[in-house]
Amino acid sequence: MTENKIAANYLNTHPDANGYFGKYGGCYIDEKLKKAMEEITEAYYTICKSSRFISELRRIRKEFQGRPTPISHLERLSNALGRVQLYAKREDLNHSGAHKLNHCMGEALLAKYMGKKKVIAETGAGQHGVALATAAAYFGLECDIYMGAVDIAKQAPNVSRMKILGARVIPVEHGLKTLKEAVDAAFNAYAKEYQDAIYCIGSVLGPHPFPMMVRDFQHVIGVEAREQFFDMTGELPDHVVACVGGGSNAMGIFSGFLNDETVRLYGVEPLGRGPSFGDHAASITYGSEGIMHGFNTIMLKDENGEPAPVYSIASGLDYPGSGPEHCLLRDIGRVTYDTINDRDAIDAFFLLSRKEGIIPALESSHAVAYAIKMAQKLNTGSILICLSGRGDKDMDYIIEKYGIPDIER
Ligand SMILES: *Cc1c(COP(=O)(O)O)cnc(C)c1O
Repeated sequence: MTENKIAANYLNTHPDANGYFGKYGGCYIDEKLKKAMEEITEAYYTICKSSRFISELRRIRKEFQGRPTPISHLERLSNALGRVQLYAKREDLNHSGAHKLNHCMGEALLAKYMGKKKVIAETGAGQHGVALATAAAYFGLECDIYMGAVDIAKQAPNVSRMKILGARVIPVEHGLKTLKEAVDAAFNAYAKEYQDAIYCIGSVLGPHPFPMMVRDFQHVIGVEAREQFFDMTGELPDHVVACVGGGSNAMGIFSGFLNDETVRLYGVEPLGRGPSFGDHAASITYGSEGIMHGFNTIMLKDENGEPAPVYSIASGLDYPGSGPEHCLLRDIGRVTYDTINDRDAIDAFFLLSRKEGIIPALESSHAVAYAIKMAQKLNTGSILICLSGRGDKDMDYIIEKYGIPDIER
């Protein structure tokens, strides 16, 4: 099985010096921004690998973010399903309610060490914007968030959060006025301001060095989880499951277990309304190789080869590509990628809430749903779920669209 062939030094040798994970990744942007990316890469190797940076980030994770986040044994859910034991790594308890703050704090601390005054990003549903605004407030940095006007109208609570935290939310009024246009606008702003600012990508996406940097800042999830799980059970989990939008929470937890031959890894993509074009965002499952947003990856394309329109009930998962490292891990067979549709994610949302007292984010509910299906099929073993975030942000939408199911007693 190819699965056992992950080299012991894999994390240090992937990506290669040019930012490639196999044939995926790289840096496909214009010369000026390429220089800026090289500056960030250089700073990453010299600053982020220094003991001063590492110990400051460790202290912040403990004192501000509330890390380590615990692992919870989902005992009632497990018993309801059969004999398989389910566990959850609780990134919903990370400050601001999701894993995204892990890389935003790293990126913003790097910005500070580099002497930058400002962080710039785009946001779709606003989750990345909120996490980055949180980090910027903590470090006393200015924060410009570009957001499509349509998304601003849809995501009022997150827009308010960003503004309360002191960020500037800049509406993008051209084209479809959504995430794609916001990406362009943020890149354009960065091209003008790169001497004073740093661009902060919200997942293991974009040009080198971001897929590597974001993975390494999220690696803390996997390192903690491996040790905690072993402490709790005396073993490693048999299966680890995470949802994949861009793929940062998944890379975070997977990277802690890549060398453990017995631990099987599963990335869960959103199948939305079904497998028809435009109804889902399962890019690894249904996509093909192509270059988008500055890197080579597996993506969903429209008839012109451009990023396709995508859909998922979980706004954090509806991106037409995924991180380049996931593409490599799929090709070499180390990680299995599969899908969960909206309906199963909603059912898992309610089941976890009612059995365990944990309201998961809709994104995370995809991982929960997949673990539930596995548990129903398997006879024995353990499954560790990366519970990437909490579901408060999703409650109003779910109640409006699906109502609240009756209680079964
Ligand atoms: C943004 C988000 C995701 C998806 O992002 P990844 O980079 O794939 O991890 C998943 N869960 C939550 C709670 C999110 O906010």
